[in-house]
Amino acid sequence: MAAAGDQGNRVLRGIPVSPGVARGKTYVWHRAEAEVPRWELREEEIPAELDRLERALVATRQQLLEVQRQVTEVMGAEEASIFDAHLLVLEDRVLLDEVVRVIRRDRVNAEYAFNQVAQKYMAALARVEDEYLRERVADMRDVTARVLSHLMGRAHGLDLSHLREPVIIVAHDLTPSDTVQLDKTKVLGFVTEIGSQTSHAAILARSLGLPAVVGVGRVLQEVESSVYALLDGFNGLLVLNPSDQVLFEYGQLVRRQISLEEKLREVVDQPGVTLDGVRVPILANIEQADDVEAVLACGAEGVGLFRTEYLYINRPHPPAENEQYEAYRRVASTLRPRPVIIRTLDLGGDKFLSHLVAQQEMNPFLGWRAIRLCLQQPEMFSVQLRAILRASAEGKVKVMYPMISGLDELCQANELLERCKAQLRRQGLPFDEQIETGAMIEIPSAVLVADALARRSRFFSIGTNDLIQYSLAVDRMNERIAHLYEPTHPAILRLIRMTTRAAEAAGLRVSVCGEMAGEPVLVPLLLGLGVHELSAAPPLVPRIKYLVRRIRMNEARDLAEWALTQESASAILRRCEELARDAAPLLFETRRVDI
Ligand code: PEP
Ligand code: MG
Repeated sequence: MAAAGDQGNRVLRGIPVSPGVARGKTYVWHRAEAEVPRWELREEEIPAELDRLERALVATRQQLLEVQRQVTEVMGAEEASIFDAHLLVLEDRVLLDEVVRVIRRDRVNAEYAFNQVAQKYMAALARVEDEYLRERVADMRDVTARVLSHLMGRAHGLDLSHLREPVIIVAHDLTPSDTVQLDKTKVLGFVTEIGSQTSHAAILARSLGLPAVVGVGRVLQEVESSVYALLDGFNGLLVLNPSDQVLFEYGQLVRRQISLEEKLREVVDQPGVTLDGVRVPILANIEQADDVEAVLACGAEGVGLFRTEYLYINRPHPPAENEQYEAYRRVASTLRPRPVIIRTLDLGGDKFLSHLVAQQEMNPFLGWRAIRLCLQQPEMFSVQLRAILRASAEGKVKVMYPMISGLDELCQANELLERCKAQLRRQGLPFDEQIETGAMIEIPSAVLVADALARRSRFFSIGTNDLIQYSLAVDRMNERIAHLYEPTHPAILRLIRMTTRAAEAAGLRVSVCGEMAGEPVLVPLLLGLGVHELSAAPPLVPRIKYLVRRIRMNEARDLAEWALTQESASAILRRCEELARDAAPLLFETRRVDI
């Protein structure tokens, strides 16, 4: 991946996922350095916590036995016997009893207790004379890391509080919980080894307006902390020790970016409408209630996707009804009369919880996530539905269910919603009796039964991020197959067209809230395929509106009609690029750089 640039610049290339340029020192983060979170338990939660510890110990043991089996196959039994010592740590009653005692006595979470006790043992072992015992520290450290990773899933955070100046983060991966917790004043941008355009870290980077490049393989081996670097989120480059010439060229690029942003400010108060007068509302995707300021500032005509899962992650307990109500109410009342589409909890996949520890899954994106998880946890789900309903009294709130695969799920979710409405009526709590519910169309089966779903929905929103991953069988997180993740694949265009046709027949409106809607190049194609509304990260909204105001719906329809006859994703993409560049050349000037 590394290439020598001119005058000794070292250039690392990856996938550009969030536009912008950052200059500053690197900060290399290894997940092992992550903090172990501590939280307090209520008395009645202790048994469940002990169960959680037990499950993590069993899972670690299975993992070690599997490693041992593989080492035996490749290197022989003698080499594999080193793992006996690891397994013994897991059977050490003295250590485990002490962990249990700490959980009970201090009423703290299992990862915190395990780490405390293990650290104490390691410190004691490191002090003894006996060399054999001293070597056991490494075994114990390894086992501890494994147990902690089973306990914490991937939800342990990146702490930047000790840094004096903002940095460019370099990491193997940033989970959504890492990214959402970032202290924005300390981060200029980030680079990761893995990930792709639609991984949630990339989506969050765009929301936060942070330049980001992912899929820079082995960047952790190439880069050290405190190296001066330039991060180019337009073209997917990390330039280490940039030369004066490179800094000069990027200075010009940044100036072009600033003048583009000035131009884009002109459309903030204008509606989304094509040159031939077709209204295309442009809405914003948000992750937290605080984002409502960004929604107003970018000129979005409402919220097309409120990803509520970020209210749930990085905390020991799910948010209570009132806390959720406050968050939803704030957004709904601030934006009133503009619509706010609140998507019910979409946990799972790459979004993990610390309080809802699911079993490790082989295929988490095909597993226990989103509506499946919610329908199996009706109490937790009802808390959210009630909060959303109550917020609907304060603005134009709509409910949207993620990952609907068929009619049954939609009906079950709607039934639960009706039950929550009945409860609220009994309690005399107000809500919008006409509240609209809609399905996300992001699983191919949903497209195939879209006619049936349309009869039970008031709107559809196409989640192209998942729709593409599931239809093309391309993991949206995997940089190695990112080239196969093709939004202009003929199959995707047909699926979108099938969805808009089914919606048209039932008189429903269709929006797109996946990342395709935030890519100006693809916007005319989506509109031509019959999409009525678009929803994208706030920083992208002005660009999309600017473009929409420069195209004709007729051209967009011709483009889509032509594209539906084509066989090659890249040929379709080229034509889309030509059209978008002709319509709004200014949008593409900041993307060019010679290095
Ligand atoms: C999508 O899948 O396109 C979508 C908007 O949902 P998420 O990215 O949160 O999975
Ligand atoms: Mg999705």
